[in-house]
Amino acid sequence: MDVEVLGTTNDQLRLLVREIEPTFMSAIRRIIMAEVPIPAIDKVYIAENTGVLYDEMLAHRLGLIPLKGGETLTLPEKCSCDKKGCNLCESVLTLEVEAKEDNSIVYSGRLKAEGSVFPANNEIPIVKLNSGQKVALVAHARLGLGKEHAKWQPVSACVVKYEPVISIDSKKCELRAVCVEECPKKILAVKGKNLAVTSIWDCSLCKVCEEVCPNSAIRVSYNDRNSELIVETTGSLSTEELVLAACEVLLHKCEDLKNSIKDLPEAS
Ligand SMILES: [Zn+2]
Repeated sequence: MDVEVLGTTNDQLRLLVREIEPTFMSAIRRIIMAEVPIPAIDKVYIAENTGVLYDEMLAHRLGLIPLKGGETLTLPEKCSCDKKGCNLCESVLTLEVEAKEDNSIVYSGRLKAEGSVFPANNEIPIVKLNSGQKVALVAHARLGLGKEHAKWQPVSACVVKYEPVISIDSKKCELRAVCVEECPKKILAVKGKNLAVTSIWDCSLCKVCEEVCPNSAIRVSYNDRNSELIVETTGSLSTEELVLAACEVLLHKCEDLKNSIKDLPEAS
């Protein structure tokens, strides 16, 4: 296996992985989406809400705010409190605000962390209040998994893509450049007397170039031995932490399987 970073920003990572079954990369992708624990608000105790947004909608919006921290928290199902909620498995955030003027927007940055969990981004709008309207609440965040509810999904996008392969038959190509015009990703260009692909990984395999070529000089296919993993985080964990956490989860699953097989009684 050979890994190369195709691109990285604060919230996105593009990894090129060569010589690996795409099913393996897809397992990593599915674990990132469904089985890496992150914190999210799960219970909200509303003391006062005189704004126009119903309590239920307010609680729903709070649940969807990406949270950071909570490294020391235990998953409720593994906690000694038997899922009742205690300071080992829950972290508290409070919000108390009274609008001074009309159309005041309350942002996630106003949530006060009483424990180890805090908003990953301080600029997420929660509710709009008019002058004199109040919101006072206590929110309990806990660790959870994406397969339980989307609010525990740590990624906004997580994709595995095969390596695109574009073959150009230079004998048939008359360089009319219709494909250059029509390609939605703009990855084709005429360079000198040849048609060239400028950035192959941006190809979405849509095959528009194939369809518009009057001479059938271009063919789009893929190589499933090489794949690209694109991870876009919501901010709870960094993209690198997510990939590493997914590998750990997969390792644990393999260990569990190994131990279960060892414990099987011998066939008679
Ligand atoms: Zn507990």
